[in-house]
Amino acid sequence: MTAKLSFTRANCLGCVRVNPFESQLQQRLSGIQSAGLLRELRRVDSPQGTRINIAGKSLLSFSSNDYLGLANHPALKEASIKATEKFGAGAGASRLICGSLAPFHELEETLAAFKGAQAALTFSTGYAAAVGTITALMGKDDIIIVDKLVHACIVDAAKLSGAKLRVFAHNNLEDLEEKLRWAKEVQGQPQILLITESIFSMDGDAAPLREIVALKEKYGAWLMVDEAHATGLYGANRRGLAEALDVSDHIEIQMGTLGKAFGASGGYICGSRALVDFLVNRARSFIFSTAPVPAAAAAARAAIQLVQSAAGQKLNEQLWARVAEFKSAISHPQSAIESAIVPLILGDESVAVAAATKLREQNIFVPAIRYPTVARGAARLRVTLTAAHTANDVQTLGGALSQIVNRKS
Ligand SMILES: *Cc1c(COP(=O)(O)O)cnc(C)c1O
Repeated sequence: MTAKLSFTRANCLGCVRVNPFESQLQQRLSGIQSAGLLRELRRVDSPQGTRINIAGKSLLSFSSNDYLGLANHPALKEASIKATEKFGAGAGASRLICGSLAPFHELEETLAAFKGAQAALTFSTGYAAAVGTITALMGKDDIIIVDKLVHACIVDAAKLSGAKLRVFAHNNLEDLEEKLRWAKEVQGQPQILLITESIFSMDGDAAPLREIVALKEKYGAWLMVDEAHATGLYGANRRGLAEALDVSDHIEIQMGTLGKAFGASGGYICGSRALVDFLVNRARSFIFSTAPVPAAAAAARAAIQLVQSAAGQKLNEQLWARVAEFKSAISHPQSAIESAIVPLILGDESVAVAAATKLREQNIFVPAIRYPTVARGAARLRVTLTAAHTANDVQTLGGALSQIVNRKS
């Protein structure tokens, strides 16, 4: 891969002078590059899977969030093809105008039943679900309290809402309680919304949801839990970590994505009928956006059905077997709550990038995750395992890592 950017006039397709806009952007890009933080797109010439084709090479990939190997699954493809044939390629309008095609309603009914919630609403992405929901519920007189490591979409939404934003140290209940105590004393009895992920996207660790629920009840806050990396994977019905910890009924706003374990695309909110009715009226990313393609909704629905089947159960078991094998291969400590995300923290940005490059030379693809996705100096290889990996794949990765990586944790 050639990561070099050359800012020469030759790039300028024959223009005589570099205009101020271009030169300003080139300067900014140079800054990003010299900090070792320049990123670029890699074209993938294959479906998502354990082997992906990049630049003419087949790479063993431990980088997707396709935890159950559903993104290229025949059942999802068939459902999306059928929906395309029956409902067309595009929805043609927003949901509230005339784009609320049957596949979206079928998906939302299936999703609500799956989650054991009164109602569900789907958005074009998880990002849009967070932005639409948080800005609909909260305004400048309110207070939002988030875990330090919540996803960018939650941070962006909280800022956009205009509410006062407070951040508590990651999974730190004492700090959380301090913030709640402070919020409770703010004049005018503001509404407080507490937001966390259940399984954290870059660290793979779990939030102490029971204790968080106890605190939010003590202080009369609302709770929103983003289950992006847990839906489809945890609990007797695979609803998510909230189910596994038996706290689903205490969470006002359950959020997730259809693009990770469900292998499709879209975001969702589950909760009460009133919540969904309110969002249909007030969530701007839902209202002012063309409905997703019917194919995506049908694929997501097929995924939810598959996850609940015996075949889905088997995929789940395979995933957890691979996680256990990987952790034992690299002598990684076991966690009380395992996840499919195993971060190998290397610290320096350039060290993480060099490690990823060495793996690439052995045709193994593990992404180096850097600032701004994680804190500066906390760069890492983020290994994600899926049900589609074989025990042999995991051994291959373990062997390569043991030669390359000098882990900090
Ligand atoms: C991926 C992700 C999202 C966004 O979901 P998309 O459907 O990809 O937009 C939200 N929250 C977390 C924690 C995520 O990892």
